[in-house]
Amino acid sequence: MSIDFRVRDFFSPTEIWTLHRTLEKTQWLPREQLEAYQDRKLREVLNLAYDQVPYYQELFSRLGLHPEDIRGIADLAKLPLLSKRTIRQSGEKLLAARARSFGAKPYKTSGTSGQPIRFYLDRRSNALEFAYYWRYWGWGGYRLGSRFAELSSHYFLARPELAERAYYFQPHLNRLVLNSSQVSVKNCKRMASALRKYHPRFLKGMPSILNFFAHSLKEAKIDDLSFKSVFSTGEVLTDLARALVEKVLNTRILDSYGHMERTVAIAQCPQGGYHVNSDYGILELEEASETTDGGARVRKAIGTSLYNRAMPLIRYDLGDHIEVFPDERDCPCGRTLPLIKAIHGRCEDSILTPDGRCITSLFIVPEFVPGIQFVQFVQTAQDRLQIRVVPAEDWEESSVTALLEYTRRMTGSKLHASVDVVPRQELIRDRSGKIRCVIGLPDREP
Ligand SMILES: [Zn+2]
Repeated sequence: MSIDFRVRDFFSPTEIWTLHRTLEKTQWLPREQLEAYQDRKLREVLNLAYDQVPYYQELFSRLGLHPEDIRGIADLAKLPLLSKRTIRQSGEKLLAARARSFGAKPYKTSGTSGQPIRFYLDRRSNALEFAYYWRYWGWGGYRLGSRFAELSSHYFLARPELAERAYYFQPHLNRLVLNSSQVSVKNCKRMASALRKYHPRFLKGMPSILNFFAHSLKEAKIDDLSFKSVFSTGEVLTDLARALVEKVLNTRILDSYGHMERTVAIAQCPQGGYHVNSDYGILELEEASETTDGGARVRKAIGTSLYNRAMPLIRYDLGDHIEVFPDERDCPCGRTLPLIKAIHGRCEDSILTPDGRCITSLFIVPEFVPGIQFVQFVQTAQDRLQIRVVPAEDWEESSVTALLEYTRRMTGSKLHASVDVVPRQELIRDRSGKIRCVIGLPDREP
């Protein structure tokens, strides 16, 4: 999900307003009407792909299919999955003939595999993104124009003259940006002063950074800050991190899931339900594979964009895993957008064991081992796993044994794990400044 919006890309007020009004209604539609809405939007996407996108023209012709053969989501499986590799190889063949008139602009994901994907998003997709955030943040009490704070390193990295600053206030956006790469016990005192001065009621950040910030505030004995809601996105939020952030910042977190290519968005409502924004894009869940831990309820996510005409991604293999409930259930908030149980690690945030299993939830191990402030699981070879630990006060000798034992329970014994105690500043950050809990081997295709 884009962290630092380019404001000019979102300057289409009529489109944003129209979409905002639509999304305000669709979240309450009876389930059948919501599904009919999705099917209608899907048919628009398929027709456009068939008429304008060379990659899909070839695909339909090879399969002997016509868009008429796919009347809705139930028929989507007639088309194959679209992998990240295919997007890389297809390049402009995935671009619609009229992409320029849709306001197409190139974007790139900061893929941790070192092989970024280039893709195009158009004006309407930007308007959708704005309207989606407007609604999701609205669930947390935000009104358009409300002052908010954001923990980000992107903003400062892009502006070398501000690189050392702990924070920066942007009056035109009513946004206080806190420099996430400068978070430390010392600097968080300056950040806390800025938060007291500007008093934003909302805070946005990635879970690992929010967690880091909360730890630093706790160590600095700062406990007078509060927010109406904190919005987390960009990686898995663990129960431990949620509990700490909510306690230290006197708030509640509304977590979310999304990605730059914008096919799927999932967001938490005030009642805690993770709602699939099915009026934003289509989420399909592949049948559970035996190689995925967590049993039959953890499924691979497949996304289809309902709005981006410049480069329609249909059945895009996201490489992420979603945990579903054993039964269909309703949320007490009354929204009809479907519920999922949890978001698991991205495939790139997973460990591949020598016996071919994809372990997606190592992040839960610290919940069973006392004395861990931060942990990183780094796969250094096919059969090697380094566990880097920043100890907390209650870390003890037996924690090493417990950590190895719980890890082995998930990974099996063919993966040789070792524990290294490291200072906090030696945790590995990726290029965006993210501290990932799990770092898999590079150059793996999801
Ligand atoms: Zn709800």
